[in-house]
Amino acid sequence: MMAERRILIVGGGIGGLAAAGALHRLGAHVTVVERAPAWQPLGAGLMLSANALAVLDALALGAMVRTRSVALPSVALRSADDVLLQAVSYSAEPNRLEAPRGMHRAALHDVLLHGAAGVTMQLGTSVQAIAPLDGGVQVTFTDAREATFDLVIGADGVHSHMRALAFPDSTAVVRYAGYTCWRTVMPNGANLTGVVELWGRGKRIGLVPLPDGQLYVFLTANATAGERDPVRGAHAVVAARFREFAGDARPVIATLAARDDLPLLRHDITELSDQLWVRGHAALLGDAGHATTPNLGQGAGMALEDALSLVHALRTHRAIADALTHYQAQRAQRVADIVRTSRRVGQMGQWTHPVARALRDTAMRLTPAWVGDRTMRALVQPGIALARAANSERH
Ligand SMILES: Cc1cc2nc3c(=O)[nH]c(=O)nc-3n(C[C@H](O)[C@H](O)[C@H](O)COP(=O)(O)OP(=O)(O)OC[C@H]3O[C@@H](n4cnc5c(N)ncnc54)[C@H](O)[C@@H]3O)c2cc1C
Repeated sequence: MMAERRILIVGGGIGGLAAAGALHRLGAHVTVVERAPAWQPLGAGLMLSANALAVLDALALGAMVRTRSVALPSVALRSADDVLLQAVSYSAEPNRLEAPRGMHRAALHDVLLHGAAGVTMQLGTSVQAIAPLDGGVQVTFTDAREATFDLVIGADGVHSHMRALAFPDSTAVVRYAGYTCWRTVMPNGANLTGVVELWGRGKRIGLVPLPDGQLYVFLTANATAGERDPVRGAHAVVAARFREFAGDARPVIATLAARDDLPLLRHDITELSDQLWVRGHAALLGDAGHATTPNLGQGAGMALEDALSLVHALRTHRAIADALTHYQAQRAQRVADIVRTSRRVGQMGQWTHPVARALRDTAMRLTPAWVGDRTMRALVQPGIALARAANSERH
């Protein structure tokens, strides 16, 4: 069934490469077009939760990902003055949830590229136009070539061009969440092993250990959209903005201020106002169809879940239209839950009003650990179930 299909994937990021490798292994003729002229080590770090890891296992990439990442045995939420608000810890006992893992984003991309070996990749290329055909899609590429495909998958990220081509009538917009985010990677001087997130007044700092003694650091702050750092001295300016943070954040801020050679990425945090999934023989996956705020560390997880769900639907349905209907039905509610929860966590985390923050912090301090544990489990369980189902039906 799959061997006859010609599938185009637009975007060689996390979701696109995951889908490409899996479809290729099933015998489909897969082409990936990627706008970037070369694969570059983009981004800082990532946290992969148990659902993302289960999907990577189902894609036969879990072992490689575990080799190139570190287990994060605990997640602690603290106030800016370092009072513990909430903690979740993971143990290696059987039937317990697997601990999340910290990984360089470039390393994950590398593993996914390895998993997509054999796929036709065209770098520096994108799609100019698409036109529906009977049972397929006619594609015009940016270099003016034309080709037909049975299915076109848009995996080209939050500012997806495929989204505009497949849904020209859509009113979905990329919406600013009200806060901006800096990301960097620096030496893990304090040898932190677990994740620490500190919540201050309209600001947060997150510390995520990575392999090779490195630490992924993200910092968020309420800001007007499009605000930019000075070209010179940005590190010191950003560090000064977070100087009130105590505990594990203090040496991190000092390092940031002192080391202007560290990479420093800045992105305004956004989300897509409405989900978009399938239209004719075109489908979106990952950020292209439902970009979410990153507060649950689940953006890559959702792109990976989408990829597995779509591949599984294509494998188990004879008609592409039926597969796409199944894909949307399987994903829409799951993604809506993540997007909504992530938005809410981000809004609460960015609160500035002292009374609201005091109530929030007290409520978190009084919440028993088992509630946090259960919330975390509920967050990842649907993805683990998806991976199990895809695995069991394959064998
Ligand atoms: C600050 C921040 C922190 C985050 N932290 C985490 C985290 O800890 N855990 C987590 O799971 N997620 C996290 N995310 C989210 C995660 O990075 C994204 O959700 C994830 O990368 C989405 O994967 P994707 O495949 O949809 O898109 P991407 O990985 O963005 O890939 C899109 C690809 O398409 C290419 N492309 C773009 N336009 C075109 C075009 N017109 N034609 C061809 N190719 C094109 C791009 O070059 C890119 O290669 C974070 C996001 C942010 C902003």
